[in-house]
Amino acid sequence: MVADFQIIGGGLMGLSTAYALQKRGASVRIIEAREGVGLETSYANAGMLHAFNAAPWNRPGVTRQLLSSLLDPSSAMKLRANAFPSIFKWGIEFIAASRPEPHWHATKNNYALADTSIKYADAWCAELNMQIDTSKNGLLNIARSEREFAAARKLTEKLEPIGFQVHALNVAETVAKEPALAPIADQLVGSFYYPDDYSADAFKFCKALEKALIDNECEIITGSKASGFLREYGTVIGVKTEAESYQAQTTIVAAGARTANLVRPLGLKLALRPVKGYSLTFQNLPGPVLPVIDDNLHAAVTPLGNRLRVAGTAEFTGFNPSLPRHRLAPLLGMLQSIYPEHSQGLTLDDATPWCGFRPMSADGLPFIGATKIKGLAVNSGQGHMGWTLCAGSAELLADLLLSNQTTIEATAFDPMR
Ligand SMILES: Cc1cc2nc3c(=O)[nH]c(=O)nc-3n(C[C@H](O)[C@H](O)[C@H](O)COP(=O)(O)OP(=O)(O)OC[C@H]3O[C@@H](n4cnc5c(N)ncnc54)[C@H](O)[C@@H]3O)c2cc1C
Repeated sequence: MVADFQIIGGGLMGLSTAYALQKRGASVRIIEAREGVGLETSYANAGMLHAFNAAPWNRPGVTRQLLSSLLDPSSAMKLRANAFPSIFKWGIEFIAASRPEPHWHATKNNYALADTSIKYADAWCAELNMQIDTSKNGLLNIARSEREFAAARKLTEKLEPIGFQVHALNVAETVAKEPALAPIADQLVGSFYYPDDYSADAFKFCKALEKALIDNECEIITGSKASGFLREYGTVIGVKTEAESYQAQTTIVAAGARTANLVRPLGLKLALRPVKGYSLTFQNLPGPVLPVIDDNLHAAVTPLGNRLRVAGTAEFTGFNPSLPRHRLAPLLGMLQSIYPEHSQGLTLDDATPWCGFRPMSADGLPFIGATKIKGLAVNSGQGHMGWTLCAGSAELLADLLLSNQTTIEATAFDPMR
């Protein structure tokens, strides 16, 4: 069957794109390499829908941090020497985009997309009656030094005029919002509270979308890795896998961090690389009620139902799926320094460890839209914001492909920029 659309990748981006297209009446097929959907980077992320975090990671000063990480095995942001050749060109663009003007351009466009995206995600959850461990109590970003507090305030002051909701809290107000922080109150100078941001389980969202898609006759082919494209007179007309070929009017690549490798043979060069991150999930660990980000530790702790998840670190190391204890131990240390009482006595053996590969674009903006190759579009590069941005990115792409009229400004995300 020639589908209207087929999507390579069944993570947050692929499933969301399929859902947005199907809602507009299109027939959709998903081709996923793993044995099920949502099993790669969308599986055990920090679970935060956080518009406040729209600023790309290449903020001014990142070069010094990355270079010093070469000598520090426990650094939260870690550049590995063996990754140099594969990220050299990307790295130069990443650093170039850390200048104030491009950094702000990316931040404000990401924020606008995130703000809309969260509203779409809300609407989807409601229309599908999703049970995904959602906690709508807002999100807390704690600060341990005046410098950190001032830096966060500077960013939020820039975002407030474009609609951003934020409350600066002193230490007492912070502890009132999240009583589990009381044991470290003397280490805090305050926090920022974002009432519109929230947390939910991204994998459960993937599974809920999968069910809705199948109920509406979306074909989801798992365990099938796309190895190339079928072309006719330069137009992409389908996808090749080891076993079969599949045709569609339009093929969308939403293969996370692997998107760049897939489209490169077509002459498309997307400045997109994997940035590895880890999480530890603890079962039956009640207590904390709010998702909390600690910028100083580059860590996030999120209650998801009766589970507590700590996630963080950024490693520039290619697609290395290993889970070494020396990289996981600092994550446990981060949890212990945010919630020393709740995490007392916990060891790595009490946790389910996981790693994923954030699809990080060099300029901090996702790639959403048609490419210069007829019949081919992409939806990738959402980096550390993929859960936050998935519904909005999908709605934007569906509008671009089906009506060319969008409610979200699309230029900044043009894959051919
Ligand atoms: C530690 C960590 C914490 C994070 N926390 C948050 C957070 O709190 N909030 C937030 O907004 N974001 C967060 N993120 C980012 C978010 O998880 C990602 O941006 C998002 O999951 C990316 O989704 P995706 O669909 O693009 O990629 P993926 O989930 O990786 O999906 C891509 C899919 O494509 C498939 N695929 C690849 N190649 C092929 C092929 N050749 N053929 C067929 N299929 C293929 C893969 O198997 C995979 O299933 C976090 C990421 C990490 C690592």
